[in-house]
Amino acid sequence: MITEALKKKLKEIFGESNFLDSPEHRIAYSYDGTALLGALPDAILIPTNVEQLSRLMKLANEERFAVIPRGSGTGLSGGSIPSENSVIILMNKWDKIIQIDPDNLTAWVEPGVITGRFQSQVESMKFFYPPDPGSSQICTIGGNVAENAGGLRGLKYGVTKNYVLGFEAVMPNGDVMHIGGKNTKDVAGYNLKDVLVGSEGTLCVFTKILLKLIPIPSASKTFLAFYDSIGRAAETVSAIISARIMPAMLEFLDNPTIRAVEDFSHLGMDKNSGAVLLIEVDGPRAVVDEDASAIAQICKSAGAVTVRAATDNAEAARLKAARKSAFAALARIRPTTILEDVTVPRSEVPVMVDFINETAKKHAVQIGTFGHAGDGNLHPTGLTDERDKKEIEKVKEVFRKLFAKAVELGGTITGEHGVGLAKKAFLEELYDSPYIELLKTTKRMLDPNLILNPGKIISVEPRCEGALPRSREQIEKATRNMDNPSEAYF
Ligand SMILES: Cc1cc2nc3c(=O)[nH]c(=O)nc-3n(C[C@H](O)[C@H](O)[C@H](O)COP(=O)(O)OP(=O)(O)OC[C@H]3O[C@@H](n4cnc5c(N)ncnc54)[C@H](O)[C@@H]3O)c2cc1C
Repeated sequence: MITEALKKKLKEIFGESNFLDSPEHRIAYSYDGTALLGALPDAILIPTNVEQLSRLMKLANEERFAVIPRGSGTGLSGGSIPSENSVIILMNKWDKIIQIDPDNLTAWVEPGVITGRFQSQVESMKFFYPPDPGSSQICTIGGNVAENAGGLRGLKYGVTKNYVLGFEAVMPNGDVMHIGGKNTKDVAGYNLKDVLVGSEGTLCVFTKILLKLIPIPSASKTFLAFYDSIGRAAETVSAIISARIMPAMLEFLDNPTIRAVEDFSHLGMDKNSGAVLLIEVDGPRAVVDEDASAIAQICKSAGAVTVRAATDNAEAARLKAARKSAFAALARIRPTTILEDVTVPRSEVPVMVDFINETAKKHAVQIGTFGHAGDGNLHPTGLTDERDKKEIEKVKEVFRKLFAKAVELGGTITGEHGVGLAKKAFLEELYDSPYIELLKTTKRMLDPNLILNPGKIISVEPRCEGALPRSREQIEKATRNMDNPSEAYF
């Protein structure tokens, strides 16, 4: 527990108004977008400059408390969930687009900039920042860099790490480090940039980020192709790639997700369809026209019942917004939504989708699946109720089987959401030990006192994260008696 004396020191660094520890604030920051996980922080800090963060890290090393960076809290692997004896730092307040440099096709941003706002800003200048997570209207660039977020345009354009040229970061010992720059080529030293990108807030705090921009594609075309069966939709994905066409988006929704999205968005989709693909091609007009007619043909040959092209940009935007609403739409069906994230080699998508459906049926668990079919990245989403302990055990067992199957097929337990708390056990169970040992060695080397977001991704002994995770029910019980907050931990 963080003592009164320590709170005083924190207030000296951050100022009274940037130190929050009311029960309401502590509860508000006890969870992120991940179902079933939560824990109370001791306090919430609003840093306003790098020096404060540096002093915080030094104090945390002296007094041995944990520091948990947080962007918008949309994470789906529990990365922003507090540990025992911890403070949250709210990085979403750092929301300036510092510089857009047209000559070097780069932009410096603060980590709290909302991804969608940044995209709109650069697009108004005819530049393009492709990483486009489904949460783009709420998540932060800092959270994206920390998670190496993917999204709807990963197939053609890659993921966040492909657009990070450099950054300023506060290291766990309080050092402020600068890495990378505007150079197109830079091979000075080990590629530590890629170690820190995707480190899920466990190895550094990003305080300034340099992003690569590309010219905006001059034209695009968006389609919806409806199928009786998932198998035919999956065949279409393979056929498009085999035809050497690289769509900007190749997204997939299964029947339960189509139903939920249609009830939510009223797009006129046939709710009896077995699957739908959302396909977008972009580039120079002539290429788009050629690719678009080839894709329409491929969809029909692969058995699409209907292929519908968006008539204008507004309709294309509506279709994409509907795809992005899949999580929200599914979340209306049952009280608890567990959005998961497995990736398999593209050719194994039909096998994985069949396995998801068979396993869900066998265990009588409700799962809707959607995802980035072109990337082989699927989001089986469990629709359940966390108050029903028996059902939750079944759902957990189903997901355990899905992760194991993904690895068996040559895939991975997470394509974009990260390991955090949610997948930690599976990482250690399903991956080989030299890799796990290297992860632990890296954490120990950069953060020997385990102060920065401890207990996420891997467990490093001696643990300082305490017993984790805790259920929402446990937090509620503890918060009923905030005069005795020690009850929050056991
Ligand atoms: C509806 C929905 C759709 C989604 N779709 C996608 C998708 O398509 N692709 C995808 O990849 N993800 C997706 N996500 C997951 C999530 O939005 C991303 O992981 C996103 O990058 C998290 O950003 P955030 O600002 O909310 O970060 P948070 O959830 O606050 O934090 C995420 C992690 O980043 C760390 N962190 C945050 N800021 C910093 C910083 N400045 N320095 C160091 N570490 C930091 C935190 O400690 C934590 O470990 C989706 C989530 C939702 C709810």
